[in-house]
Amino acid sequence: MLHGTDAEVLAIHCSDHRFQAGFYEFLNRQLNLAENYDLLVLPGGPQCLTLVEYLPKFSWAGWKWFRFLVDAHDLRRLILIQHQDCGWYKELPVHLHFSPEPRQRQEEDLRRARAALAKERPELSVELYYAGWDASRHINIEGVDG
Ligand SMILES: [Zn+2]
Repeated sequence: MLHGTDAEVLAIHCSDHRFQAGFYEFLNRQLNLAENYDLLVLPGGPQCLTLVEYLPKFSWAGWKWFRFLVDAHDLRRLILIQHQDCGWYKELPVHLHFSPEPRQRQEEDLRRARAALAKERPELSVELYYAGWDASRHINIEGVDG
């Protein structure tokens, strides 16, 4: 796709500086997006699309930005990425999730976001990913099953 046309893709990930290069590499090289995507970067990343009861204003803003980008840019594909050792999750009360285990909490939120999106915008294709360090401290990003 040429630059200047609709992006069609929106990626949402966390602000954590340790993962920015890994996110960039993944989006541009592995997914081949070649810098042609909208990007929403905020603490906890896609969790802003789930916290309706616990942090309603935060969730309201997340959905507001999301709807704006989807409508303004005619987006078709959504890429949600969570990551290992996310500080945002350490601040959240454990009762919000079924499991106290960090990765499971994050994957639960990814699935919650996807379920909410399926109702709100069924035309969007939604992909879920988890970024973590491998043994050599290289960032590896893999898909999360729905
Ligand atoms: Zn984070």
